[in-house]
Amino acid sequence: MTPSDGTPPPFEPYRTKVVERIPNPSPSERQAALERAHYNLFQLRSDEIRVDLLTDSGTGAMSDRQWASLMLGDESYAGSRNFTHFESVVRELTGFPHIFPTHQGRAAENLLFSTFCRPGSIVPNNMHFDTTQAHVLHNGGRPVNLAISEAYDPESEMPFKGNVDLLALKALLELEGPEHIPLMMVTITNNTGGGQPVSLANLREVASLVHGRGIPLYLDMCRWAENAYFVREREPGQGDRTIAQIGREFFDLADGATMSAKKDGLVNIGGFVATRDPSVAERLNEAQILFEGFTTYGGLARRDLEAMAVGLVEATDLEYLEHRIAQIRYLGEQLAARGVPLLRPIGGHAVYLDVRRFLPHLSTEDLPGQALVVEIYREGAIRTVEVGSLMFGESDSGGKSLELVRLAVPRRVYSAAQLSYVADAVGRVYARRREIRGIRYVHRPDRLPHFTARFAPALPVTPSTG
Ligand SMILES: *Cc1c(COP(=O)(O)O)cnc(C)c1O
Repeated sequence: MTPSDGTPPPFEPYRTKVVERIPNPSPSERQAALERAHYNLFQLRSDEIRVDLLTDSGTGAMSDRQWASLMLGDESYAGSRNFTHFESVVRELTGFPHIFPTHQGRAAENLLFSTFCRPGSIVPNNMHFDTTQAHVLHNGGRPVNLAISEAYDPESEMPFKGNVDLLALKALLELEGPEHIPLMMVTITNNTGGGQPVSLANLREVASLVHGRGIPLYLDMCRWAENAYFVREREPGQGDRTIAQIGREFFDLADGATMSAKKDGLVNIGGFVATRDPSVAERLNEAQILFEGFTTYGGLARRDLEAMAVGLVEATDLEYLEHRIAQIRYLGEQLAARGVPLLRPIGGHAVYLDVRRFLPHLSTEDLPGQALVVEIYREGAIRTVEVGSLMFGESDSGGKSLELVRLAVPRRVYSAAQLSYVADAVGRVYARRREIRGIRYVHRPDRLPHFTARFAPALPVTPSTG
């Protein structure tokens, strides 16, 4: 009998209109795939994967309304009516007047940091995401992580583990003036730290601290709707407000934002950068035209802007979000019932395995997170991702770090039965955890190493029989 915490699976508030067959590679095919991919799961082919929890980015299912909206594409180079619609939706949701579409989130980061960041610039954030950190570094800046200390304790049940450590921020602001800190970022929800939300109360304090020094505040708003859901659920006085209202209060505290619409935009490609400041807008627009494309398409087909406009509104639907968060919790509680150590509370878009408690016999040099993603793939052809010393080796977090494996759930894609399959497979890996050996680098690139690094098992394994 498989263990379960007794919670019934959450009701999916959608039904299937199109289906896609799922591959089922055999154990020997999985081993061959691992060898071919040099034990880097980013190098696998999708037909080698049964359940793909690598990322929730651009992997969601669009709604019938979004698919229908693609037919409304007005592919004019300049002045497309899809841009006008997209712009009015983003203005309504965020209140930011100047909006520049980009092909995805890191492109928005490229525009923002090439505008703000100079060699020697310091950029504080609750926690930088991998591409955000890479863009700060690429522009000669220093990314500094200032999340509260509970964020680094996987067992703390604190409800807003995405919050900024206000004392640490104050200390940094006293040490370094606005001439060295061109902007402050806050990531909602905090992806790197377990999909954990930031409270409205915390953002109010952050805004008042940085604005008091003349430093602008930008939000990394990829999962703003999920963040607003947690605020509605957990922050006193917020329970009767809509997601759009709560979201708007976050944006009203900020000067602008970067967005990967591949997350809470419910599209497969797209993003934007937004600002209140007309002089910043002018520079973002110049960079957009240089790197992405003209103002009214920014690296996208115009039909993509239309799908984004529809998806951004669907992401604020309470019934959709209730299922989304319940589905992640369902996966988390199924894993917990099998004894698997998790980061708590369970986050908004993913369940994060606590690698230090999962594989206590391995040290950081054994790349335990990477060893675990390889074993989970071997067990169930399930793809997950390391979020730890491999992805964030050089982060400046004052000596604190997390060692996690993320099981990110694509939006509106997998059923409860498929998530139970994942929990069973990870439970079996946990049962044989003491046999798991480390992984070592064969090739380690300098920037964003996790995407293209090559690995080998630390000890010899039996060669493939397939
Ligand atoms: C995904 C993500 C980004 C980058 O967006 P892409 O669309 O993948 O380029 C930036 N910040 C956070 C928090 C993200 O989750």
